[in-house]
Amino acid sequence: MVMKQFKAESKRLLELMIHSIYTHREIFLRELLSNSSDAIDKLYYKTLQDGDTGLNRDDFFIRIIPDKQARTLTIEDNGCGMTKEELENNLGVIAKSGSLNFKKDLEKTDEIEIIGQFGVGFYSAFMVSDCVTVESRAYGSDEAWCWQSKGVEGYTIGACEKENHGTKIVLSIKPSSEEESYEEFLEEHRIRSIVKKYSDYIRYPILMEVEKSRLKEGSDEERETYREEETLNSMVPIWRKNKNEITQEEYEQFYREKFYDYEAPLKVIHTSTEGVSTYNALLFIPAKAPYDYYTKEYEKGLQLYSNGVMIMEKCADLLPDYFSFVRGLVDSQDLSLNISREMLQHDRQLKLIEGRLEKKIKSELELMLKNDRENYEKFFSSFGLQLKYGIYSDFGQHKELLQDLLLFYSSSEKKPVTLKEYVSRMKEDQKDIYFVSGESVNRIEQLPQTELLREKGLEMLYLTDQVDEFALRMLHAYEEHEFKNVSSDDLGLETEEEKKAAEQQKEEYKDLLESVQKALDGKVKSVIVSQRLKSHPVCLSSEGAISLEMEKVLNAMPNAEKVQAQRVLELNPSHPVFNVLKKLQQSNPEKLSEYTQLLYTQALLIEGLPIEDPVAFSNQICNLMAE
Ligand code: ADP
Ligand code: MG
Repeated sequence: MVMKQFKAESKRLLELMIHSIYTHREIFLRELLSNSSDAIDKLYYKTLQDGDTGLNRDDFFIRIIPDKQARTLTIEDNGCGMTKEELENNLGVIAKSGSLNFKKDLEKTDEIEIIGQFGVGFYSAFMVSDCVTVESRAYGSDEAWCWQSKGVEGYTIGACEKENHGTKIVLSIKPSSEEESYEEFLEEHRIRSIVKKYSDYIRYPILMEVEKSRLKEGSDEERETYREEETLNSMVPIWRKNKNEITQEEYEQFYREKFYDYEAPLKVIHTSTEGVSTYNALLFIPAKAPYDYYTKEYEKGLQLYSNGVMIMEKCADLLPDYFSFVRGLVDSQDLSLNISREMLQHDRQLKLIEGRLEKKIKSELELMLKNDRENYEKFFSSFGLQLKYGIYSDFGQHKELLQDLLLFYSSSEKKPVTLKEYVSRMKEDQKDIYFVSGESVNRIEQLPQTELLREKGLEMLYLTDQVDEFALRMLHAYEEHEFKNVSSDDLGLETEEEKKAAEQQKEEYKDLLESVQKALDGKVKSVIVSQRLKSHPVCLSSEGAISLEMEKVLNAMPNAEKVQAQRVLELNPSHPVFNVLKKLQQSNPEKLSEYTQLLYTQALLIEGLPIEDPVAFSNQICNLMAE
């Protein structure tokens, strides 16, 4: 028979499997049993939709047959089976779901440790087997095919006989060496314990013939052994069990296997409801955002089961976008199985469930925020961005729901705080909530614009994510306290006297300010005597709806029309440089113009904005140094 080649990436995974370390090998059984269960699900779902297939739920089974003499382990199911093409396509390449995640990590690391925690799929058979034979007959087809492989060299495929639909996988168990033993995988008690550990909740019976003993007939001493088929798994899915029957470990194990994460979830939410809609939901909040979370590739959604049968792998309608990080499943008996995707979208039950889950997730997050701050901060550093997008999107529709889940870094607390916490600490006469934007907490701390508030002991929120300022603009106010940008908005912090003094200064330096603005030749909307600067000579602020930070963000978007904030150059009248400017105005207007450029460029640098001509700037400074 012709030997066919595996795809390159499959080869790589195969090699890893063949050389996997001892402790992980047992999971091959979990993988093969899950595949059988999936295959039965597919067929069962089909029978429910078509109606007249003559198959009953009770007809389905998975069977394990260890054979010590032949040194084979057989796993057999009467699921949907595979056609010749399916055998080639499904077993010749690294498949979808689990294995794909694995593949991504494979590129990043050679860490063989991860195998134990991933759904590595069919190829895991090669961890214990040196020859894998798959006989399969697709449901509804009258031909059967046999796929066989001894490892990386490739596989063969040919016609074979098979009486019923389904798949039979025969593993030739590797020979044991001095260091390694594979015999255990042929032992009944070992197989039984692996099934219990990983596959207990599989909803179809996993059968195995086991040896039992009984009293011989007519004797009350002598015993005889006999063989009987037994169901190894309890068949109750974990989400249908009582909460108090499930350990944290079991939840975590289930989560890892089902959702291919190697970290335990940050939070498990197990909830069931009866009444208007009856459902069980088992939800997880991951500890970290998946690598593709903030990309278009990420698909949100929960698995949807109808009475224990999976009808959809990712039901997006069950989760609002802002909670798209939640993984898990919903099992409801109120959903019709014969429902199409389009109908599902308009399903009233589904809407009800979504609404309830949304409330539940929110209240669980609030609880975590209240009782387990450390974990909440972890959660927020992974998924806070998504909540902030949630505030900003849909024209601010969800801001009420989400605003109390937000955290921002506080200038006075030196850690993330909620808006509620900020407001509770506000000074007696403080009306507004102050914020500053910048690249990082460090950069913001240096911003000259923050000096005034620091001096007055006013708390500021530091915004370091691009979406932050947009989200706050969308919120507009929190508990009637408006948000004010420390570097651009009019903060109204001056006393009457200060205001008067400012007016006077404005008059007094009118000519100077005009000359400076002229020298900048349209680059700034206005030049003013600053009220916020204390020790720095100069800063930039903005007028109008677009701040400097928003300008950066908007202009960084691909294909976006360029916008520009209306820039305002602020000069500090109590800084010695200001006196220099004053003198130059009379004695040397040319130099005034030059210094103005220098100051403006410095202000740009402080803001983290691009400067127009770095070489000219550098030359100017050198000239000054040489003077
Ligand atoms: P995954 O289960 O994540 O898709 P696997 O590597 O475990 O990846 O399996 C690859 C594919 O092979 C499955 O998606 C399925 O289409 C097919 N397959 C594996 N085992 C069986 C089986 N027992 N019956 C029918 N199809 C199977
Ligand atoms: Mg699989």
